[in-house]
Amino acid sequence: MTTGSPVLRFAPSPNGRLHLGHAYSALLNADLADRMGGLCRLRIEDIDPARSKPDFIDGIVADLAWLGLTYPEPVRRQSQHMSSYRAALSGLIGRGLAYPCFCSRGQIRARTASDSESPCDPDGVPLYPGTCRHLDVAVAQDRAARGDPHTWRLDMAAALHSAGPTHGYIAFDEAGARRVAADPARWGDAVIARRDVPTSYHLAVVHDDALEGITHVVRGRDLEAATDLHVLLQALLGLPVPHYRHHPLLLDPAGEKLSKSRGSQSLADLRQAGRTPGEIRARLGFA
Ligand code: GLU
Repeated sequence: MTTGSPVLRFAPSPNGRLHLGHAYSALLNADLADRMGGLCRLRIEDIDPARSKPDFIDGIVADLAWLGLTYPEPVRRQSQHMSSYRAALSGLIGRGLAYPCFCSRGQIRARTASDSESPCDPDGVPLYPGTCRHLDVAVAQDRAARGDPHTWRLDMAAALHSAGPTHGYIAFDEAGARRVAADPARWGDAVIARRDVPTSYHLAVVHDDALEGITHVVRGRDLEAATDLHVLLQALLGLPVPHYRHHPLLLDPAGEKLSKSRGSQSLADLRQAGRTPGEIRARLGFA
């Protein structure tokens, strides 16, 4: 689906108001799209039914417009495309690359806590110990049919075997482009579909980046390690691999990354306090 010219995207999750970190990412995407002679799309990543709120979507659009950023229509809202993610998930299940996992977070925690050697994924979460990987298929199907809540996990060993030794991507920044080797195995049997929806962030993002013809993904460094998993999913699903740039995160005065949950000042707060879009742009280096 590439048009020949670069396509970037800004893809916020509407579970809070945008803060300066989002503004930086949105402005950087727009600036790069401009300089590369391409365009930047907006995508609303609202797969989380509990945390995504329509008010936050309206807020995102208003905050971006206030900053002077507009986007081509239609703006994709992931919650409206669950059947597409379900189809991608079913394909992986049908190929024996994903299995249902009935373990609760508490059960996994208890199991991994008793083993001080448990390796962790790049987010510091103990790797799934594989409890449900070898469940009898008939038993698992029966439990799922009875409505026993379950996630779907990628069978990492099977996935690596199926995808072959293909994994890497081009990372780009001001200094140029370089090849980065990906190591998806460090995520273990990652969750690719949550209990409540037939996808996870990882599956939906690779699906949509391909569908929307995204050629350059520019996002925060907190998602750099996840790219290893994304590259594997792209190989499994036969999707193109965009170029990636992972920008530094903005930190608060205490050196913590800005976050909605830690109550970092939102763009709406700054607007209320009389700051202008020009001041925000200048503060973030986009004057
Ligand atoms: N929706 C993700 C977030 O708000 C960003 C996803 C991405 O850029 O790949 O953190």
